[in-house]
Amino acid sequence: MSSDDEPKVPTWVSSGPPPGRGIYCNRTLNLRSIKVIGYDMDYTLVHYRVSVWERRAYDYLKQRLLDRGWPVADLAFDHDLVVRGLVMDVERGNLLKVNRFGYVKQGLHGTKPLDFEVLRRTYSRTVIDLGDPRYSFLNTLFSLSEGCMYAQLVDKLDEGHIPGLGTPPKQGEHYVGYRELYRAVRSNIDAAHTEGQLKAEIVADPDRYVLLDEETVLAVLDQFHAGKRLLLITNSEVDYTAAMMSYTFDRFLPGNMTWSDLFELSICASRKPGFFESKAPLLEVVDVANGLLKPVVGALRKHGIYFGGNAAAVEQHLGLSGDEILYLGDHMYGDVHVSKSLLRWRTGLILRELEDEIAAAEGMHELQLDLAAMMAEKERLEWGFSQLRLALQRKKSGYAEQVPESAETLIQRMGALRTELVALDEKIAPVAGAASRAVNERWGLLMRAGNDKSKLARQIERYADIYTSRVANFLYATPFAYLRSPRGSLPHDPLPSLPSRKAP
Ligand code: IMP
Ligand code: MG
Repeated sequence: MSSDDEPKVPTWVSSGPPPGRGIYCNRTLNLRSIKVIGYDMDYTLVHYRVSVWERRAYDYLKQRLLDRGWPVADLAFDHDLVVRGLVMDVERGNLLKVNRFGYVKQGLHGTKPLDFEVLRRTYSRTVIDLGDPRYSFLNTLFSLSEGCMYAQLVDKLDEGHIPGLGTPPKQGEHYVGYRELYRAVRSNIDAAHTEGQLKAEIVADPDRYVLLDEETVLAVLDQFHAGKRLLLITNSEVDYTAAMMSYTFDRFLPGNMTWSDLFELSICASRKPGFFESKAPLLEVVDVANGLLKPVVGALRKHGIYFGGNAAAVEQHLGLSGDEILYLGDHMYGDVHVSKSLLRWRTGLILRELEDEIAAAEGMHELQLDLAAMMAEKERLEWGFSQLRLALQRKKSGYAEQVPESAETLIQRMGALRTELVALDEKIAPVAGAASRAVNERWGLLMRAGNDKSKLARQIERYADIYTSRVANFLYATPFAYLRSPRGSLPHDPLPSLPSRKAP
């Protein structure tokens, strides 16, 4: 083969990432112009077996509630009850799936489905505003145990098993006490995370809780050697961070390199989201094992491990700000929303659930085509029905241009169309139902609410320049990628023609 005939891209270059492992782009991002990449640790660089971790966190939460006299002995963690991106209405004891406009599309009261009529009556005039303390957004996979316990406690309260809280509601009222339940769950899950016992268990038996991912380490190493200045900014404590990072990273690093060699600064106990606006002092960790700290004097030490601090101090150290810094994290609010809105950092959300979402969407492709074809037919029939109805109205009222058919004929035709529409609706309902139960029987896809985008999808679109299932996906993109957002679609764009499914 002459050199002219040789393919420009050698055959060993793969044609793209494996399914579901892309980096999806809301706002075009040229990685070559990014000088600093900051990483969150938990559920970003380090992934856990969610069910195992959350069940253990739930058990700690449950034990704390038991110790305080709550009647929770018979409760157990239900992994499928809640998903990230739901909203808890702590005034009414509901878990809600909300669409991008803030309208409620689905809900549970406690663990029981809210039927459509109740949902409509309760929320038809409510736009869910996440800034309102009545609502709590499930921002991360760490929120699952909290959401599950809250829903279960609402059941207990409704059943009258929590004395001292709430009285049975009169017609049209709702129980008081749901907020107290939330406060109890919040403060006790908070304590379970911070008290140290849960973390000590994880450190003692990481195999049970932590997923190793060599590709994540290689992707970060690629960025390191590409000259990116890397940061670790985690809310985890110093000893836990060191234990998790060395467990997940050191084994895959070349030679004597250890995890902290990768990062220009490693900041633990950062207290995000406050980190992005506070003036909290940055302290240097002198001794990881016994948590010895000292004030920072002068410049920060390269590859040093730090405690606390704030983003302004980091920007000052870097001599950089805003769009030269990319920060990647899994917490929709604490990592992504705040760093974007306060500092205009470039942002990326790590959303592990995306792999299942995308697989489900692929699996539903045929179903979606069927649904789209039936919806197109429905629209055509509805259009016809409305035209007939208007013609009948004009005929009866004797105004405007008249059609040749008699009123009786118009009525007959409308009847026939209505019959067709009813039959079509019966065909659509099970297909739409199956589509809405993908991945999670109760809640369907995370990024969709009905046919529309979910609140989570809207948050991602608004605050995350990119999103991807795991840091390892940068391996395929390389540190030099120009990540381009697709052309945004608009409702008035010409419709793509539906591919025909069946061979003629
Ligand atoms: P990051 O994701 O690396 O910033 O770390 C998250 C840290 O926050 C982990 O150490 C979690 O255990 C901890 N965490 C998660 N949820 C809560 C909470 O509700 N209260 C206190 N700490 C939490
Ligand atoms: Mg995290």
